[in-house]
Order: sequence, then structure tokens, then C-alpha cells
Amino acid sequence: MYIRDTIAAVSTPPGNGGIGIIRVSGGLASTVGFSVFKSVRDGGLESHRFSFGTVCDPSTGEKLDEAMAVYMRAPRSYTREDVLELHCHGGWLVVERVLSLVLSCGVRLAEPGEFTRRAFLNGRIDLVQAEAVMEIIASKSESALQLAQRQSGGALSIRFEAVRASLLKALALVEAYIDFPEDDLGNTDKSTILASAQEANTIICSLLSTFEEGRAMRDGISVLIIGKPNVGKSSLLNRLLNENRAIVTAVPGTTRDIIEEVIVFGGLSLRLLDTAGIRHTDDLVESEGISRALAKIPQADLVLAVFDASMEFSNEDQFILNALADSRAIAVFNKSDLPRKLVLPNIDFFYAVTEISALTGAGIDLLKRQVCSLFSPSNQSDPCDFVAISRSRHRDALVTAANHLQQFSAGVKDCSLDLLALDLRGALYSIGSITGQTATDEVLDLIFSSFCIGK
Ligand code: GDP
Repeated sequence: MYIRDTIAAVSTPPGNGGIGIIRVSGGLASTVGFSVFKSVRDGGLESHRFSFGTVCDPSTGEKLDEAMAVYMRAPRSYTREDVLELHCHGGWLVVERVLSLVLSCGVRLAEPGEFTRRAFLNGRIDLVQAEAVMEIIASKSESALQLAQRQSGGALSIRFEAVRASLLKALALVEAYIDFPEDDLGNTDKSTILASAQEANTIICSLLSTFEEGRAMRDGISVLIIGKPNVGKSSLLNRLLNENRAIVTAVPGTTRDIIEEVIVFGGLSLRLLDTAGIRHTDDLVESEGISRALAKIPQADLVLAVFDASMEFSNEDQFILNALADSRAIAVFNKSDLPRKLVLPNIDFFYAVTEISALTGAGIDLLKRQVCSLFSPSNQSDPCDFVAISRSRHRDALVTAANHLQQFSAGVKDCSLDLLALDLRGALYSIGSITGQTATDEVLDLIFSSFCIGK
């Protein structure tokens, strides 16, 4: 365990609430507890037991608040250091006064994420788990929360550890031959080295293949609603939101900028973007809106291409079909309550074609389910076991590791052992940067600075 100064912070959100918790971590935690907290029970603070009492200023004897206190002796605590928590009344003034009292005992105010950083530095969790703690707090949908909880429980770290173990096995053998250059790399050892590197590569590739789904679960899915004017895009947005957010009129060209709203459905959060109707226009504002809509197509996770099923296929519809090439799209035939006239010349590239009536609500639930099924971990026997990477930091490091392994495989035949060892070390370094073994202070600063104070 690292020896550091003692830190304190308010761990509950700012403002007034039922309870306000002041958390202290470090060598002085118990001293602080004994000096500012007077338990009604004799004997004071016992580790891992709540005590009821009062917080008093030892220099004046003034009673600041009634409180519950819990002291957790190292290493059985969140940070693996001695930890004290004072649970006071949740008024901001009470909490501020208790915090000031604690800070006057030789304790310093914690930086953002510093408790979790200490948990990481003291080896209780790895960096992937530390990041997942923040994801749990930030989760806005069921699926984001489940993914973060599995990551925080170590399900993802086990995979990274397996990659590390295979790489270390290969590296140990290569280095053994570097140490004894008179021995030739025998066939058996060569195949062991190759097999270990291959094992690592297989796990890396399977983790990389989960990124899209993981990111969708964590950040939500951006769903772009696109179509020519008056096909019912805004009506569809309102239906999906169950409210009248976008203006619906029979006048073409009413939505001129992008309207953005979030709904949570099927455990996923969907970021809906309603756009200006695509058509030829001389109106400057409208044509700017159309350019913005078209520019969003490649960035969207999914496009809902809305067509008016009661009208004949037009040049504008064709323009939209052309603009959608290479994007992930669902064709939405709206106005199914009217007689059908539309025939699309090419529907093969759509993930699905679905009929709805934004006016009556028919087909809307099916459409929502189709959207979600595209991003759910469908191939998993049990979606609750689904583990995915969801951060680009992890993805980038895995890609770097995979590149090193590719060079390694290409060089096995005729490269020197030194070069092979270099590739394996490069891959190990990348994996270590994910789990934290080789993460630099700058990376740690960046990660933990996005935490809240008190976590
Ligand atoms: P946008 O320009 O594509 O956003 O289209 P709007 O949502 O503003 O709708 C244009 C017109 O079509 C309005 O008069 C809507 O009431 C009407 N409309 C939208 N959806 C439907 C539908 O499913 N059936 C029928 N009959 N009319 C609809």
C-alpha cells in the first residue's frame, strides 16, 4: 500500500438532501473520527460498525450535528486505506461545516476521483474497473448500467488478463532463447510461442468486435430521421417521444435545423435527430438545414429513411436513396392509413422495411423493436453475460496490440529474436495501458479528472 496524506470530500451530491456524507481516507481517518465524533456508545468507533453520535468541534466543544459514523480499517475499505464516513443531515451548510472541521485536522480536500484513484493505486481494482465505476454513476439506460456493472465486477478485466498471460508466456520463451543464443529456437518452442501469440490475438479480435455494441450500450444510439418534406418525419419524432416536440404542419420545409431528443427504449438510449426535409430549394436557411442533415448521415448509427407511402416514388426519394449508400438504414413507409402508391426501386440495402402511420401510431412499437434489435447483443446466449469494450481508449490500445502481433507473426520466420521480443513487449505495453500497469500519470490524470469529487 502507498503511504500518502489523508484526504476528505463530500461524497453526496451538492445541494440539500436527506443525508450528506463526508468521506475521509488515509492514515489520519481514525484520528479524525476519534477527535470530531462522539459516539453515544462507550468505546467509540469499531471497524465496519455504524455508530450513532454527534459531530463536535474538539477545540470549542460546539455540537455541529447529530450523525452516524462508520470507520473501515485498511485494507477492508473502498480505497484499501483507513476510511471514515460521517453521515450527517443533508443540508449544504451542515455538510460544509463538518467538512471544514475535518479539514482542520490535518486533512486535505480530495481531488476529483481521488478515492477511486487510491483504490486503483492500492491494487483493489484495475483501471478498467475504475473507469467502470464512473460509468455506473453516469449510466442513463438499463443496458449502459448493466455493462458498466459487469465491467466494474471484473468481467472485462479477466479477458485482458488472459491476453497478458498468453503474451507473457510467449515473451518468456523468446527471452529465454535471447539469453542462451547458442540454442536454436526448436520447433516445439516455436509452435508454443506462435500458439500463445495466436491465443492473445483471438481474444483481442473478439473484444474489438464488441466495440460497436458496447459503445451503443454506453453512449446510446444516434438515430437520424431523414426524408423529403411532408413525409411525416416530425410526426414520427413526436410519436417516438410521445409528445409534440417537433412542429407538424402541412407546409413543407418547417423543420430547418436538427432537433435532438433522447428516449430510452428496450434498455437502450436512443438519440433521435429530426432533420430538414430533403428537396431542391432556393431558400438559403432551408438549404443550410438540408446540408446539415446530409452531413449527419455518415455519423449516425442508424438512419430512419422516411417515405410517404401514399405518394408515387419521386426524384427526391431517389436522391435520398443515393445519399444513403453505405449507411445503416431502415426504410420507414409512413402514412400506412392511406392507400399505398409508393414502390421503391431498390430496398435490398435496408436493414429492414417497415410500415407505420405516425398519425394513428400503427407500427411504431415494431419500429422501436427493430431499432433496438440491431444494437442488442443478439448472438449472446445470455445477454446478461455480454461483455463488451465501450471506450475508444480501450479500442485504440487493442488495435495497437493487434498491429504488434501482426508484425510478430509476419516476422516469426526470419526476424531476430530481439525484434520478436520487441513486438511482444509492444503488445504487452498496450494491454497494460488499458488495465493500468503501464498507464502514464498523464493518462491517469485524464481519466480521474472526469470523476466527481468525493468518488
Ligand atoms: P415532415 O415535414 O416530414 O416533418 O412532416 P410532418 O410530420 O410535418 O407531417 C406533414 C403532414 O403529414 C402533416 O399534415 C401531418 O399531419 C401529415 N402526416 C404525418 N404522418 C401521417 C400519417 O401517418 N398519416 C397521414 N394521413 N398523415 C400524416
